Amino acid sequence: MGSGTSCYSQAMKFLHALMLLTALAYLSMTTAHAYNGPVIDMHVHAWPSGTDGGPDEPKNQAALEAEWAELQSFNIVLAVTSGPEAFLEAWEAAQPTELLPGPIFPCIDGKNPVFYRHTCFTNGENFPNIEWLEEQYTSGRFGVMGELYNQYAAIPYDDPRMDPYYELAERLGIPVAFHTHSAPPLTAQQCCPDFRIANGNPLLIENVLVKYPKLKAYIMHANPLVYPEVLDLLVQFPKVYVDVSPWQMAYTRKKFHRLLQEYVDAGLIGRVMFGSDGANYKKAFDAYTSAEFLSKKQLEGIFCMNAERFLRKNGICDSGSD
Ligand SMILES: [Zn+2]
Repeated sequence: MGSGTSCYSQAMKFLHALMLLTALAYLSMTTAHAYNGPVIDMHVHAWPSGTDGGPDEPKNQAALEAEWAELQSFNIVLAVTSGPEAFLEAWEAAQPTELLPGPIFPCIDGKNPVFYRHTCFTNGENFPNIEWLEEQYTSGRFGVMGELYNQYAAIPYDDPRMDPYYELAERLGIPVAFHTHSAPPLTAQQCCPDFRIANGNPLLIENVLVKYPKLKAYIMHANPLVYPEVLDLLVQFPKVYVDVSPWQMAYTRKKFHRLLQEYVDAGLIGRVMFGSDGANYKKAFDAYTSAEFLSKKQLEGIFCMNAERFLRKNGICDSGSD
């Protein structure tokens, strides 16, 4: 080949390289920060997913297995998992990933208040037996209290019946997960006649936080677009963290980004933890990684580091790193 051709081919190579670099620069600008590191999921449920039967029923078993496979393929290094006792047992037996299991209560007529009804506790009550519960924590079987379903059961967060449980959680340093805000459509008609939106304002947790200053609490579904007061609560109580499920799925991308922006503007994005609440992981992750205003560090915080700090599980976010 003559030198002219060679020169031309060099120029083409240079041009191609330049185009590639430009494309990469454009991609890195528009896709914000991809994330494939370790994830702590603060909001997992061990549910009956197809029938009112137990975890061994084929439909329920298939659903559980599908969820366990998801946890592994999306690098969930810790799943904070709540549900009826029998379903938690199935998860503990399978150990799909490291678990932090916890009971759901208060229940209604002894059953978990949402979806398919299943007995919450073998004692058939709406509340777990307190001695039994303490044993589950001290033996290391359970690691979280909740999701607390006070709103579904129309039992105020600061109802005296809750006191023994908050005392226990505070004494043992167990994190407490509060359901807040709302629930799926027609909840009062479907499962929980006394369910009211009015009982889900996160501000109603304030009395509990004042009475139990050492309580390690986190607010589920914490949505400053509807309840701006949740930001005041976080400022007032620096130990309190939040998850923002299911808004990553329920809202348009634009609106969900506005919600995240509220936390950034308030200087509180460091207390937002990822929770799936049953969402498709790929779509849920994309809702965060597409937020161009979030730095790589802020994303790492949401997906893992903020929960690691909240749960005092030092080093767990290193375990899933590549
Ligand atoms: Zn919830």
